[in-house]
Amino acid sequence: MTGTADARPPRRVRCPCCGEPATFAASNPWRPFCSERCRNGDLGAWASESYRVAAQPDPDELSDADPPATPARPRH
Ligand SMILES: [Zn+2]
Repeated sequence: MTGTADARPPRRVRCPCCGEPATFAASNPWRPFCSERCRNGDLGAWASESYRVAAQPDPDELSDADPPATPARPRH
């Protein structure tokens, strides 16, 4: 056991959202962002972008709503 991990200074990174210095350590739950606000802002932009794509009608769903007529043929 080394036991000296706590003595190391926290790593500093630049917040991808606002560019402010952020602490990249367990003490910063929003890492690599500087704050919850920056983290939510980035996720929100990403989510709204994907939601727009997901809002397209699914061709599989359309065909399922109108199933093709397949009359069951009697074997004998
Ligand atoms: Zn930030």
